[in-house]
Amino acid sequence: MRIDLHTHSSVSDGTESPAELLATAHAAGLDVVGLTDHDTTAGWSLAEAARPPGLTVVPGMELSCRWFPADRPPISVHLLAYLFDPGHPGFAGERGRLRAERLQRGERIVAALAADGYPVVWDRIVKRSGGGVVGRPHVARALVEAGVVESVDAAFATLLHHGSPYYVAKADTDVREGIALVRAAGGVPVFAHGLATKRGRVVGDDAIAAMAEAGLLGLEVDHPDHAPHERAHLRGLADDLGLIVTGSSDYHGSNKQTPIGACTTAPDQFEALLAAGTGSAPYRD
Ligand code: AMP
Ligand code: FE
Ligand code: FE
Ligand code: ZN
Repeated sequence: MRIDLHTHSSVSDGTESPAELLATAHAAGLDVVGLTDHDTTAGWSLAEAARPPGLTVVPGMELSCRWFPADRPPISVHLLAYLFDPGHPGFAGERGRLRAERLQRGERIVAALAADGYPVVWDRIVKRSGGGVVGRPHVARALVEAGVVESVDAAFATLLHHGSPYYVAKADTDVREGIALVRAAGGVPVFAHGLATKRGRVVGDDAIAAMAEAGLLGLEVDHPDHAPHERAHLRGLADDLGLIVTGSSDYHGSNKQTPIGACTTAPDQFEALLAAGTGSAPYRD
């Protein structure tokens, strides 16, 4: 069984439609794939309709959140959510707020770049996003297409990273509130790439323990952005806190170098996740 529980389609910041993404997963020999677009469930029905026979699809999402340390500025954290009820009003409302927040901050990032002479146009970026969830990768692609940088990675390294003068933070959900919303909607909250230092500041063990206290059910341990010692540390924490351990590629199509299935989840951990999710069901034969 090959199980990859974290991928993005063009409904958010991946480059393949949900149907193309599932075809990629199938061709790569995966048995199970999680569709986890940022802050939206718009891809779920498309994935259900396009599912190749034999492939199990886990409907999910990656919620943009923040952790508030006592003595430092907030830290951006991502919360994977699986098998929740997409119609839960409180959770649906919060996702809508986040998408609106993304539009406002994206426009501010682009305005600041344009003011310094970078040839990027907000309306064009929104249009190219297909009306989906707009994020920094869309701005990165516009910079590549304008010939400013060679790749999406280079755009992040130079202009769009969290320490850049062009970076604008979003008012993301307090992660404890996010965990509560996922649980209220019958879903399984899993802390995504918790020690990915290349993305910015990361939280301490105290935060992960507090998240577990708030109802977190899993930790994404095997992730392309985690070094071996970071995986070992997270595995130890999951063991101490009684959390499910997941592994996944965080595939974004051609927006990232990582191939689908680059990291995977053990079958017994997947079974535990399935047993904990009551808000929706996987799409399977
Ligand atoms: P946003 O949600 O708009 O803040 O953008 C975050 C997204 O950008 C993540 O979900 C990744 O897809 C991508 N990303 C973040 N950091 C990097 C990086 N260093 N290089 C390439 N892509 C990145
Ligand atoms: Fe992303
Ligand atoms: Fe993420
Ligand atoms: Zn992701």
